[in-house]
Amino acid sequence: MELWQKMIRNSVSTVDHLVERFNIQRETAEKLDEFFQARINPYYLSLIRFEGDPIWLQCVPDVKELEDIDAPEDPLKEDDMSPVPNITHRYPDRALFLVTSQCGLFCRFCTRKRKVGDQSKISMRTLESAFQYLEQHTEISDVILSGGDPLMLTDTMLEKILIRLREIKHIQIIRLGTKMPCVLPHRITPQLCDMLKKYHPIYCNTHFNHPWEITEESKKACAMLVDSGIPVGNQCVLMKGVNDNADTMKELMKGLLAMRVRPYYIYQADLTKGANHFRTPLKVGMEIMDKLRGHISGLAVPHFVIDAPGGGGKIPMLPEYVISQDENKVVLRNFKYNIYEYPDVRDDSQITDESLFMRKNVRRKTTLRSKKDRVKKIKIPVLQNGNNC
Ligand code: SF4
Repeated sequence: MELWQKMIRNSVSTVDHLVERFNIQRETAEKLDEFFQARINPYYLSLIRFEGDPIWLQCVPDVKELEDIDAPEDPLKEDDMSPVPNITHRYPDRALFLVTSQCGLFCRFCTRKRKVGDQSKISMRTLESAFQYLEQHTEISDVILSGGDPLMLTDTMLEKILIRLREIKHIQIIRLGTKMPCVLPHRITPQLCDMLKKYHPIYCNTHFNHPWEITEESKKACAMLVDSGIPVGNQCVLMKGVNDNADTMKELMKGLLAMRVRPYYIYQADLTKGANHFRTPLKVGMEIMDKLRGHISGLAVPHFVIDAPGGGGKIPMLPEYVISQDENKVVLRNFKYNIYEYPDVRDDSQITDESLFMRKNVRRKTTLRSKKDRVKKIKIPVLQNGNNC
């Protein structure tokens, strides 16, 4: 058994553990266990600094989870978009391939609680209909291995899946959606990296939510992946009490970039059964983005997105930079709230339904707000000329 497997085995996971470690009333611990079992491996447990800190909130069961039990189980309608077991096909050329239901940590905010922790074994035989679907759908060029966490599979099982995927010629990109570099970095071994690099192009998206998750161990794990030619991106979830302020997000994004992990998405928290206490008002995310863009390297600025409830996919949310727009010019504000006018190029031959829609909407937004309000909102008294520096 490898070290990471031993650490999973030694996780905090039972009702007794919850009562002893976290002083949770037994009756509550039993209900929480029934709702969504705990799994906190010794490494992640060691990152907790005090009760209720951002690490604790992400992994220790909380009675609040039992208070919004009526919220949706599958907020993103992944199951409705599943043509065969283990595949979700939402976007034209990409498919999500769920290869395991196990994870190195059971995150309390998880949107896939309905599947995570399910003990039924996934074998190559049970994945056969998924492989056949991928073979038949030649429009799919990008497959995201997810779960659960695909790095919970042994190297041998993961390699079998990769071999099979590489036999499908129209699949160009394979992505690993894994939280292991953050929650159990010991999983990233030289053997794993040697195996993965045989099946390039492989990309990895990992999931750090707080700067305290950046440790010597997680830095080493990410470096090993990157040194194996695997670009690593980060998706994080905006959560109340965890990372809902600009300073924390700045530190996280800069820390990630310094270890060659490219910040990719900040997700607005989904409406998920047992996790609604993590949700923040949308304006919190917008204000954070406003304090990132221009203030830190563009390489460290992720997209802030809502994964639309009901399966609409990711929709980017941007602070408003366009003050007004007409056929001749666009008036913009920059990250310091200075205002700049950019002369537009008239090209009526290029007018499409989409561009008309955009223009109407920009005009509608700007007329809704009075000039006085605009000046107040942008806090800038004089119009300045911009330059290209
Ligand atoms: S690692 Fe991902 S799939 Fe697993 S519990 Fe955490 S958020 Fe959910």
